[in-house]
Amino acid sequence: MSEFDIIQRHFNWPQQDQSIKVGNGDDAAVVSLRTGEELAISVDTSIKGVHFPHDTPAHAVGHKSLAVNLSDMAAMGATPRWFTLALTLPTQNEEWLQAFSNSLKTLADQHNVSLIGGDTTRGPLSITIQIMGTLPKGSALRRSGAQPGDLICVTGTPGDAAAGLACLQNRLQLPTTEQAYCVQRLNYPTPRLAFGERLRMHAHSCIDVSDGLCADLQHILDQSGVNATLATEQIPTSAALSKLPAKTRNALTLSGGDDYELLFTIPADQLDAIQHIAAETNTGVTAIGQVGAATTAKPTLTLTTGDMTVSQGFNHFAQHNTTTKP
Ligand code: ADP
Ligand code: MG
Repeated sequence: MSEFDIIQRHFNWPQQDQSIKVGNGDDAAVVSLRTGEELAISVDTSIKGVHFPHDTPAHAVGHKSLAVNLSDMAAMGATPRWFTLALTLPTQNEEWLQAFSNSLKTLADQHNVSLIGGDTTRGPLSITIQIMGTLPKGSALRRSGAQPGDLICVTGTPGDAAAGLACLQNRLQLPTTEQAYCVQRLNYPTPRLAFGERLRMHAHSCIDVSDGLCADLQHILDQSGVNATLATEQIPTSAALSKLPAKTRNALTLSGGDDYELLFTIPADQLDAIQHIAAETNTGVTAIGQVGAATTAKPTLTLTTGDMTVSQGFNHFAQHNTTTKP
């Protein structure tokens, strides 16, 4: 099968979106924008053995490759519209391609995002997706907007994906059902798109958690020039992690990566509105801390546990970081 056959068979999907003027098959894709819109663009590469373990099923690879890009759109409050796919394949494996493209298309259809082009090459397995989304002018959710007094909130239950990876790598043991749940969260992250779009009207800042809760919160602090305090005991954990010793659980929730949950700050008076949106979009949301004014040049994150305070305490957990990123 030639490269052309692979594209025709697996990636030349029927297009419905009227905004696509030229799709797959020409030298470049062409899309039209409405007036008053801005374009949000992001790209992510997933490499076998680096971003996902060697034995990850093709179906999971397809889902996750797109999900991580959709998550970036959610974090900006953007509506994903189009993506391109640069695929590097070691061999021609029809079964692998079928499972990969099926799950990719299922997730794309679920969020009305269209595949409008790409590139297909031979080499070690690697998937690069560039995603494009739209936003009303000037409305993007930034990392830089956090203000003293803001509440810090997070969607979902951070730490599950890192626990799944730790189980697969025999660094952690969980009962069968709990392990299956965590591996599912690792392989099939849920991009928080419906929630992210509505967050645009309420949040001061937002990021998606790919490297770990503390590490990603630090990006908000650095870019906003503010301090923050996290109440460790308020961070929600799934039932799957609930029986782990507190130290292990905290390491996973504070430093584990790959969750693709949204971490954001809101003015305190917006909490009711946020809980309302959370209920309507079927998204768990928990307030876990507070933003304060910066007191030094370097914005600091303080963790509290009961009446114990640990400044920059997450460094202690860094060695347990389970992210697959370099
Ligand atoms: P070019 O030589 O102009 O780069 P290619 O032969 O690489 O064109 O690709 C032909 C067409 O197929 C282009 O429109 C390209 O966007 C599309 N395409 C190539 N690979 C993929 C892929 N993996 N997924 C979707 N579209 C693809
Ligand atoms: Mg090409």
